Amino acid sequence: MNKILTTLFIATFLFFCAPVNSQSLDQRTIRIGINSDEVFTTIRIQSFSGNWRVEFGGASPTRDLLTEGEDCTIMLVPKGMVARFSDGKEFGQGYNSITISGGELLNFEIPDQPPVLLQGILEVGYKETSIQLVNKISVHQHVVSSVSKIGITNEPESLKALCVMARTRLAWHLANPQHKEENYDICDKDHCFPFSGCGYNRELVDILASMTSDQTLTYGGKVIMPRYHNTCGGRISSARDIYGEDEPYHPSHPDLLDGKGSENCFHSPGFHWSIELQKADFLDFLSLAFAGGAERVYTGWEPAKVDANGRIYQVTLRGRLPKSISGIEFHRELSEYFGPNGIKSMKFTMELLRRTIIFRGMGQGEGVGLCIYGADGLAKKSQKYLEILKFYYPGTEVKMKAEK
Ligand SMILES: [Zn+2]
Ligand SMILES: [Zn+2]
Repeated sequence: MNKILTTLFIATFLFFCAPVNSQSLDQRTIRIGINSDEVFTTIRIQSFSGNWRVEFGGASPTRDLLTEGEDCTIMLVPKGMVARFSDGKEFGQGYNSITISGGELLNFEIPDQPPVLLQGILEVGYKETSIQLVNKISVHQHVVSSVSKIGITNEPESLKALCVMARTRLAWHLANPQHKEENYDICDKDHCFPFSGCGYNRELVDILASMTSDQTLTYGGKVIMPRYHNTCGGRISSARDIYGEDEPYHPSHPDLLDGKGSENCFHSPGFHWSIELQKADFLDFLSLAFAGGAERVYTGWEPAKVDANGRIYQVTLRGRLPKSISGIEFHRELSEYFGPNGIKSMKFTMELLRRTIIFRGMGQGEGVGLCIYGADGLAKKSQKYLEILKFYYPGTEVKMKAEK
């Protein structure tokens, strides 16, 4: 008896001593909040390929199969979620969760939004008056989907650098959850990491993600939150200036390789840009984007602080009570109001005419960390992905395998 107990004890002890993270990072599951900032009460899902199990959870759980080509509409009503399949089957009990899994590709649509293709598991739940969607896929699948979407290039070395950047961002979010109140690890918005399903997946990116499997960027032994943008316009700004964050691996430096021609992102359509806006439209923007009662009506604005690279990082809104906001916040509002092709970055000058303002700028995005067009330019200048990563994240190391 004693011997059995001892054996059991040792077995248990060994079990708990086994490496907790023996699973590779790329195989780990990541939970993504889909359309997390939208409010919607109806979704339509369709099996694009494979047969999907649909499990309804609640007081009287039940399940069904969504076969290839078949679709199903899920609606949130006061008693919970109800569903109707295209073959006429109804699930009207009112469920608090619906889990869809087991197939290959799932197409889903919410009203007024383009359809999105998903892999893995889709969990449908609700909070207050909106359906909530969580897509569970592997870190590898997320890397492939996000890099396929943001990578503008076919240069393997540049795409490999993006794969390591993307994986590092996911690893950082798994370790530092920003949505603790929610049932997901990361959302699909820019502040976490944009995700638009697997509909853009590229075979080449899949291969390169596997080739760089498990590799992450560390600084002082810790996984970093690597920043990136589309085009810096020749000069990269520091995280300290732009975000007020002390991140030594995000310094200010020119996007220029010594002795190798022009700026690395010079070929980007966003390197130089200009746009002419009506003064009246800009006033509308100020009052709509920053309005907050009669006390806060803003009738003008001016750059308050500009960094050494010409990027405006603090803005003063003029009105009865002037207000100071960050350049990043101002730019996010500008992009929302005038669209992504309006004012592409905060690195610009203005020419005031009688009725209009001409904005002349350089770069697209926030301008800190890896410049996507610059990474492409560096690959074209024969730089390897580890050199590209060192260039944009100085002082970091690439850890080759996830910690055991
Ligand atoms: Zn988020
Ligand atoms: Zn650049």
